[in-house]
Amino acid sequence: MADPKGFLTTPRREWPRRPVGERVRDWDEVCVPGALLPLVGAQADRCMDCGVPFCHEACPLGNLIPEWNDLVAREDWRAAAERLHATNNFPEFTGRLCPAPCEAGCVLAINQPAVTIKNVECAIADRAWEEGFAGPSPPERLSDRTVAVIGSGPTGLAAAQQLTRAGHTVAVYERDDRIGGLMRYGIPAFKMEKRHLERRIGQMRAEGTKFRTSTAVGRDVDAAALRARYDAVVVSTGATAWRELDVPGRELTGVHQAMEYLPLANRVCEGDLEASPLSAAGRDVVIVGGGDTGADCLGTAVREGAASVTQLDIYDRPGAERDEEAEPWPTYPKLYRLSPAHEEAGVLRTAPEAARDCDARLFAASTLRLTGDAEGRVRALHLAGVDAERRVRPGTERVLPAGLVLLALGFSGPDRQDGLVAGLGLELEPRGTIARDAGFATNVPGVFAAGDAARGQSLIVWAIAEGRAVAAAVDRYLSGGTTCLPAPVGPYDRPMTA
Ligand SMILES: Cc1cc2nc3c(=O)[nH]c(=O)nc-3n(C[C@H](O)[C@H](O)[C@H](O)COP(=O)(O)OP(=O)(O)OC[C@H]3O[C@@H](n4cnc5c(N)ncnc54)[C@H](O)[C@@H]3O)c2cc1C
Ligand code: SF4
Repeated sequence: MADPKGFLTTPRREWPRRPVGERVRDWDEVCVPGALLPLVGAQADRCMDCGVPFCHEACPLGNLIPEWNDLVAREDWRAAAERLHATNNFPEFTGRLCPAPCEAGCVLAINQPAVTIKNVECAIADRAWEEGFAGPSPPERLSDRTVAVIGSGPTGLAAAQQLTRAGHTVAVYERDDRIGGLMRYGIPAFKMEKRHLERRIGQMRAEGTKFRTSTAVGRDVDAAALRARYDAVVVSTGATAWRELDVPGRELTGVHQAMEYLPLANRVCEGDLEASPLSAAGRDVVIVGGGDTGADCLGTAVREGAASVTQLDIYDRPGAERDEEAEPWPTYPKLYRLSPAHEEAGVLRTAPEAARDCDARLFAASTLRLTGDAEGRVRALHLAGVDAERRVRPGTERVLPAGLVLLALGFSGPDRQDGLVAGLGLELEPRGTIARDAGFATNVPGVFAAGDAARGQSLIVWAIAEGRAVAAAVDRYLSGGTTCLPAPVGPYDRPMTA
């Protein structure tokens, strides 16, 4: 640490966001371009270089956070980029999208605001690209082994990059027409612009990774034949089977899953469509589900020009402070958080009633039924307040106007209908995820499973960690028992809990 008193003299400051009125008129990232660099050195200098850095423990990737905080404070960007990339293939993704369990675990967070670790990570990653420190690293020599990676989300990309750099010949199969998984067609551009994805894909191509888009394994390519063609296969197909809303009226026109709605909006941003056929423009939108996917729908609907937006959360409104009994430091606490999308909906007062809470959420709210007009189009959502056991509280029933209802209720596991699971003969866990042993191996010899497909719905930082770890397992399998690749997590590791 360049200044040992930095944490005493410098208050926490985050990358400033653009004004709401400006940012809801475009799809660019919400933070002010160029405004991070001037403040990030002093912020990195708040790091205490702890003897036992809990930030490092709280990160599934085991990021070397105190090391790169010190290097940023000393303005040694090249060394910082090298230390950052030593544990994370795609820090510009996590620097923008991660909920930052490292900050919840930061020792400083015990009695004052944590170090802005995520901002520092993002600054190093962006600077690395600008300065040319993030060029391709092709292998010095090739093995004669081949690997097929199925699915091009963060898990598949991390696995493919690690295995390519280890010298294996890797082809990534993706059923969508573009690479990126949920980062491409799920997560909106205002959270992460797609140019960051393109740049990494370019780097990976230059290193030798091959990409086969618009190719669904199990449908366009026979799964068993693919297994026979390659020395090893990694299944990283995500958890795309969505949960349903089982209420009367679900069948009405205008009721859609979040992952039917978000990809179309993303395709408009990609220039594939003039306008989304499910656009929220001029409609009263109700989002069922209080999580991040729901927040992504919220920000998208606001930008599309919705007449009103309300987000329903079945859970009670969390507190502003950590519950020291249930979720003590250094665990990641459930807190009342105002994401940029909530900030936008609140400031625009698109839902006057909900906006009393400064955002568009209604907490402890359960959907009873949906009703429509004579043409079968949804017109209203009937809801009620619920207690902690989800029992309806009498007298709390009410009706919201609804021209578009978006379901953001989470995902249950990988797609079981696409022929991949059956074609390879993969065993599943009772909850529907792909079964694997302590070495990421499935029941089929030479086939490994990683990421949301095997772990269940998770986060990008876990996906990258799983991708790195499965690459080590595959490399060990191909090399007859040894590997130099790092394995930051095991298949049974979970986030820290009390
Ligand atoms: C809307 C939304 C927003 C999110 N926002 C965040 C966030 O801000 N921060 C965060 O940390 N996490 C976020 N997440 C979670 C995060 O995106 C996932 O945990 C992560 O993408 C999982 O990575 P993955 O590679 O395992 O799977 P995915 O990203 O789902 O990728 C799987 C890929 O496999 C492909 N595929 C599936 N079957 C086949 C087949 N048979 N043949 C070929 N290809 C196939 C799919 O098309 C897909 O491209 C979000 C999730 C959603 C749904
Ligand atoms: S826990 Fe916080 S203060 Fe300590 S090393 Fe990590 S970032 Fe720095």
